[in-house]
Amino acid sequence: MSIEKRFKPLLEKREHDFLYRRRPLVFSPQQPVMKINGLDCINFSSNDYLGLANHPQIKSNLQNALNKDDISYGSGAAHLVTGHHLHHHLLEDELADWLGVERALLFSTGYMANLAVQQTLMQAGDTILADKLNHASLIDGAQLSAANLKRYPHLNMQALERRLQQAQENNSQAMIVTDGVFSMDGDIAPLAQMQQLAQTYQAWLFVDDAHGFGCLGKQGKGSFAHFGLEPDKNTILMGTLGKAFGTSGAFVAGSETLIETLIQFARPYIYTTAMPQLNALAIREALKLVKDSDASRETLQKNITHFRDGAMKLGLDLWPSETAIQPVLLGSSELALHWSDTLKQAGFWVSAIRPPTVPKNQARLRVTLSANHSSQQIDKLLSALKSIQATQS
Ligand SMILES: *Cc1c(COP(=O)(O)O)cnc(C)c1O
Repeated sequence: MSIEKRFKPLLEKREHDFLYRRRPLVFSPQQPVMKINGLDCINFSSNDYLGLANHPQIKSNLQNALNKDDISYGSGAAHLVTGHHLHHHLLEDELADWLGVERALLFSTGYMANLAVQQTLMQAGDTILADKLNHASLIDGAQLSAANLKRYPHLNMQALERRLQQAQENNSQAMIVTDGVFSMDGDIAPLAQMQQLAQTYQAWLFVDDAHGFGCLGKQGKGSFAHFGLEPDKNTILMGTLGKAFGTSGAFVAGSETLIETLIQFARPYIYTTAMPQLNALAIREALKLVKDSDASRETLQKNITHFRDGAMKLGLDLWPSETAIQPVLLGSSELALHWSDTLKQAGFWVSAIRPPTVPKNQARLRVTLSANHSSQQIDKLLSALKSIQATQS
């Protein structure tokens, strides 16, 4: 069968179901006011929560480095060959110090870090216990490992405990796997209870804090810090650098044994080229800014409250989220697309999130806030939402 014959109907069906994806073309730097697909708009869709993606301090740091002769752009090889440069190494130490753990390990993407942790640590006979709303890369990582995968209803600690009991009865090593801040929902995993459960059942706790690091806790130390908790020896932290850090890449952080195990055995670590050293340099500067950004985090929190208060007054269907990710639930993909398109015409970039990224009939607008948004920009978005609402009733 030809490729055409097999896939053309699938593409047509996707379009018919309002599920077709298109890549908006961006003509400006990443920032609150952008030009996207030729449209001037205020951007409420990115994950650049602290406004670091286009930060002058990071740019000038890169320019200075390029003016010296001792740094190449490309890393040239995998970390275990000749790709592990000085700035990668220093960055790993700085990440570990920031989080108060023994070691950290850089990955080229968060997706790969999530494959690496689950594939490497979880073996045949082990059990992965995953929240139903975990990020796609956590689900894929679980499916690619040899362990059994059991999912529990979103944030349901009783259901999690039952599965932990079952695993214990079967003498199966369990790993609890969760988003710290849920990427499409914005709510936060109850880490105090989860840590308690993990300790009671001698399970390992793997937290993907892609949207927590930088935004939550003192010095942006993430969801654990938000609850006043410390990761223990059986905690595996994962963070991405493409969100609040405004760069790209990811890290896993935890014990010496954890990190050495990944270096020795994790295929998504070993068989891939190290990220460009210049990116590591940019991340080192971003980390300094993240640590120093308690004031921006306060502004971000003010912006979140401003948006939520306004949206609730309009009677919009919000999710119980206290973070920068604020979903407005609409139900059908068609409706979510309609709202998103209307907002674009009015000058606001807000993505429609549709299945399979979210469950069926839970299509939504995913509004994300940044410390760099002004309160006027948020007011304008709220009045645009109000106008759309008026045309609906
Ligand atoms: C973005 C994201 C990832 C993937 O990270 P990349 O570096 O973009 O590959 C993983 N987990 C969560 C929760 C994310 O939001």
